[in-house]
Formats: sequence, C-alpha cells, structure tokens
Amino acid sequence: MDWMNKVIQKYLNYLSDLFFPGNCPVCEKAPYKDGFSYMCLECEDLLAWINKNGCKFCGIPMSGFDFDGLICAACRQDPPRFLKGKCMFLLDQNGKKIIHEIKYHGAKDVLKDLPRWLKRSIPFEEFLRDSVLIPVPLHKKRLKKRGFNQSVWIAHALKKGMGDSVEVSEALIRVRDTPTQTKLNRSQRKRNVKNAFALKAKNSLEHSNKIVLIDDVYTTGATLDACAKVLIDGGFQNVYVATLGHG
Ligand SMILES: [Zn+2]
Ligand SMILES: [Zn+2]
Repeated sequence: MDWMNKVIQKYLNYLSDLFFPGNCPVCEKAPYKDGFSYMCLECEDLLAWINKNGCKFCGIPMSGFDFDGLICAACRQDPPRFLKGKCMFLLDQNGKKIIHEIKYHGAKDVLKDLPRWLKRSIPFEEFLRDSVLIPVPLHKKRLKKRGFNQSVWIAHALKKGMGDSVEVSEALIRVRDTPTQTKLNRSQRKRNVKNAFALKAKNSLEHSNKIVLIDDVYTTGATLDACAKVLIDGGFQNVYVATLGHG
C-alpha cells in the first residue's frame, strides 16, 4: 500500500500548505511570529543586503568603493546593453533560500515582506523611482507547467512597495521555449536566449519611459540583456535592470 501512503501524504501536504502557508524561508520556523511578516525580522537582519553602489551594470558590491560608475571584471569583459543594474541582496546561503522558496515552492507570501525590504536597500528603492517595471517573461509552455512567473510576482510586489511612482507592464513575451540555464556557462547562456524575446505589438509603453527589467536573480545577465536588446531595438533608450538576488 505504498502508493496509498504517498497519495495520503500528498493530500496532507496540500492541506497543510493551504492552512499554513510555509515557514520563514531562512530559519524555517513558523511564519507571522511577529504578526506582520513572513520572514522573521531577526532573519531579515542576516541577509546580505546591498545598500551601497556596486558595479554599474550588475550591481555587485565592490569592496571599498561607493562610487556609482565602476564596472566589475565580468561586466567589463562583456558589457551589457542596458544602462545600469541594481540588486537587493547577495545570494549567499540565506539569500538563496528566499529565491528558492519563491521560485521552486511558489511561496508568493514571501513577497508580502518585499515593501519592507526596500527600506533595507535604499539605492535599490531610489533606482526604481518613476519607472515602468517589465518582468522577464516565461514561455507560455513553461508558464503552464509552473503555474506562475516569479518575475511577474516580484514586479507587482515592488509596485506595492513603491506606490504610484512605478507601473508594471508585461510588454515582453518569450517567443522561444529555451532550455533552463542553470547548467550553462556564460556564452552558452547568451546563445540560449538569443532571439528568445519579443515586444508585444499592443503595449502601453512610450519611448521616453524609464524601463526597468525585473527578474528574480542576476547570474550572468544574459537573459536580462536579451530582453534589453529587444527594447533598445524597438527604440527605447532608457533601459535598466533590477533583480532581488545576485550570484
Ligand atoms: Zn526566521
Ligand atoms: Zn558587474
């Protein structure tokens, strides 16, 4: 009756997820300990928040410098097309847990805390002001399989924190269903996402808009840069990128 146990276990997991929407993604203790947050405030303190200017393109902190124009070695070697980029925290052990919880467990509730996270990363908040946020799209096949696009969730959570100074526009589509990038190196990633995106014919964007592309993490920047190319080719000049994690 092994299969029956599995079915029952699955059902119990489903029920527990329904009533207890996951635990703190960092310490894994019960959520809402303090009544208003998902992640404990103590755990929030453990995150490697980026609150200084880092690399102009990918946002990675560069030790000893707080000047908003330096470029890290990786970005110098292969400069992206977008103008600037920022990220909120480093993908150390704790940062990874948060992204994992959102991306692989679909824990949207984690993002309820995001408006407060903006206060932990002041340059990030300033960077987003007066912009149109465009989430990196998933291909419709992938979307159907996963059921959600975490970048869309993140963009809307950011809008919630930023208020009327930002808009969200799902103006890009993924026209090629590209294989997942996790095991690919920098140049393979670049090839993988080439011509994978397009601008929707019907969109509310104006060429003068400050556009910030939104994704969950910055790894090599290949996906974000492929999205930026579509916008730049479409006549947009102010194209930026922002992600939650870097690493
Ligand atoms: Zn915790
Ligand atoms: Zn960089």
